[in-house]
Amino acid sequence: MSYCHRCDVLVGLDGVHVIAVERDDANGALTVTVESAPRLEGCPRCGVVAVSLGRPVVELIDAPMAGRPVRIRWRKRSWRCPGSRLVLHPKVLFTVTDTAPVPHPP
Ligand SMILES: [Zn+2]
Repeated sequence: MSYCHRCDVLVGLDGVHVIAVERDDANGALTVTVESAPRLEGCPRCGVVAVSLGRPVVELIDAPMAGRPVRIRWRKRSWRCPGSRLVLHPKVLFTVTDTAPVPHPP
């Protein structure tokens, strides 16, 4: 997926890319959906390439933009070590997650 550099600059949240912006016509509120760029992640315990667990959405409130309330929908990436199924470290399930984007101060 290619990201829009201009959208990323406009929103200005470090470490994540804008993938959608929606405006609520009733109150003008903006909902900005962001995610981190895809990358390989290794298990911090055994070094095996981790398996993606998908992207659960976390909602954050950001400072208003041009007087409009802003909500951030962060598609947080999570991983699991495949070794936990292969008895490399049994009964230890863990995830490695993105660092949350830091909303702008109000
Ligand atoms: Zn592991």
